[in-house]
Amino acid sequence: MTETASSAPSDFIRTAVSEDLRSGRFAHIRTRFPPEPNGYLHIGHAKAIAVDFGIANDFGGVCNLRFDDTNPVKEEQEYVDSIMADIRWLGFDWGDRLFFASDYFETLYQYAVRLIEKGKAYVCDLTPDEMREYRGTLKAPGRESPYRNRSIAENLDLFARMRAGEFPEGSRTLRAKIDMASGNINLRDPVMYRILHATHHRTGDAWKIYPLYDFAHGQSDSIEGISHSLCSLEYEIHRPLYDWYTRELGIYAPRQIEFARLNLSYTVLSKRKLLRLVKDGYVKGWDDPRMPTLSGLRRRGYTASSIRAFCAAIGVAKADSVVDIAMLEHSLRDELNKSAPRVMGVLRPLRVVIENYPEDQVETMTAINNPEDPGAGTRQLPFSRVLYIEQDDFRENPPPKFFRLAPGREVRLRYAYFVTCVGVVKDAAGNVVEVRCTYDPATRGGDAPDGRKVKATVHWLSAAHAVPTEVRLYESLFNRPNPDDVDDEGGDFLSNLNPNSLEVVANAFVEPSVRSAAAGAAFQFERLGYFCVDPDSRAERPVFNRAVGLKDSWAKVEKAA
Ligand code: ATP
Ligand code: MG
Repeated sequence: MTETASSAPSDFIRTAVSEDLRSGRFAHIRTRFPPEPNGYLHIGHAKAIAVDFGIANDFGGVCNLRFDDTNPVKEEQEYVDSIMADIRWLGFDWGDRLFFASDYFETLYQYAVRLIEKGKAYVCDLTPDEMREYRGTLKAPGRESPYRNRSIAENLDLFARMRAGEFPEGSRTLRAKIDMASGNINLRDPVMYRILHATHHRTGDAWKIYPLYDFAHGQSDSIEGISHSLCSLEYEIHRPLYDWYTRELGIYAPRQIEFARLNLSYTVLSKRKLLRLVKDGYVKGWDDPRMPTLSGLRRRGYTASSIRAFCAAIGVAKADSVVDIAMLEHSLRDELNKSAPRVMGVLRPLRVVIENYPEDQVETMTAINNPEDPGAGTRQLPFSRVLYIEQDDFRENPPPKFFRLAPGREVRLRYAYFVTCVGVVKDAAGNVVEVRCTYDPATRGGDAPDGRKVKATVHWLSAAHAVPTEVRLYESLFNRPNPDDVDDEGGDFLSNLNPNSLEVVANAFVEPSVRSAAAGAAFQFERLGYFCVDPDSRAERPVFNRAVGLKDSWAKVEKAA
């Protein structure tokens, strides 16, 4: 493959990679996606995955999957499994290059010993509080630790004994000896190892010391021969340290390039916050359809291709920004508009009786499956004397611009007949519980031979054939564009949770053709939006999630807010 064979539009990273190949700095491109297995992947990770795998692919290289599992306290096998499943689902493949930073613990330990032997690392006995105090501030330089000038022999001995588990947790650290006066606080003798007597999900109790991110990450990149270590912007100020370690160790040096994280309006993309939503029961789990996790989006009805299209559309840049959630919805709507079969569903049923239609008669009406896809064909819809229409499609006293069904008014029933409302039936409280109509047999199929027009077409179901279903309607989980924007001092993002984010419509109906649709199948309910079959579905009683509406509803919301 040539270095110009790029499927995605170029960007500053592709330009840099291209230049590195041309100049010979790297002969082959090898990237990695390095998730920490402490939560499920979210849409921000999808962006990173698209960048890491996409760039490797464009330049004929490969991308490794490496679990950054250096913190035994927060990491679990459940997360490892879900992360692998989600990456595969998104459509990316790491081949046989599955790695764990924990596989390198012995090598990393030897690297640390090498730095001690060079006089570039030392064992420090400052407590965490003291260390903070010695570190200085952005304006004031730090002070050197009183343990900084221990002999190499003493450091080697103490570090070996840290490994052997001789010292209590938190009592000592191994620190790089760099510069306590550096303008970059990351270079003020950063901690390389800490003592943790915790059980690791892969190495068990073998280790009593664990490397910190900065020491583990770059060296893992180096061990794997990564050419470009692509990461989000917050690591930019860590880059001097990243480079310092490989330089002082004299090992292969990858190039770190940073790009802006994805931020989405009305959404939190921090695993810590997402974990809180799950653990404290604000949502039903990591795959709750309101969650921005890949498993939540998938359950909601998002396809892998729509997420990839979204990632391509947002591109990759160096400057931080917030992407409008409407863009994500647009990518799904755009795809489902082309691919999703149309069906009839009625969320809030109102009974309609056609008085002049024979009691026992059932006709079948021909309906188009997808006007965007002529190959999708047609299906037969049963029509009978008693129907359901949407409550919203009838008004006893219609306001000026309401053109749908009302007393004395004629409308079209989609793919069926023109009907005219000739009366209503009310309950004791005065609510309309049934609409009485007559139909014009000459309008079968939906057009009048005399050319007369109606102003509205409404969808319907034959009551005797309609399948009862539960429909879950969603709004954004948060009601502020930036959920971290809080009014009261003590508040946090949880105070911006949208109390209406889930509405369960328990007594909806759908047409018989989708009675046994498989979980994950997506449909357009005509006039109502795109809906996806939820795994909670039982035989004969499907459950649907509304994935996205038919139109962008956000523009309206913004104006009203
Ligand atoms: P969080 O803050 O949610 O815990 P993280 O960066 O700690 O995120 P990791 O598992 O370490 O999560 O992330 C793996 C990779 O995904 C990293 O390279 C990270 O930069 C990238 N990443 C995480 N969140 C985003 C985001 N919102 N946009 C783009 N890339 C992201
Ligand atoms: Mg991280």
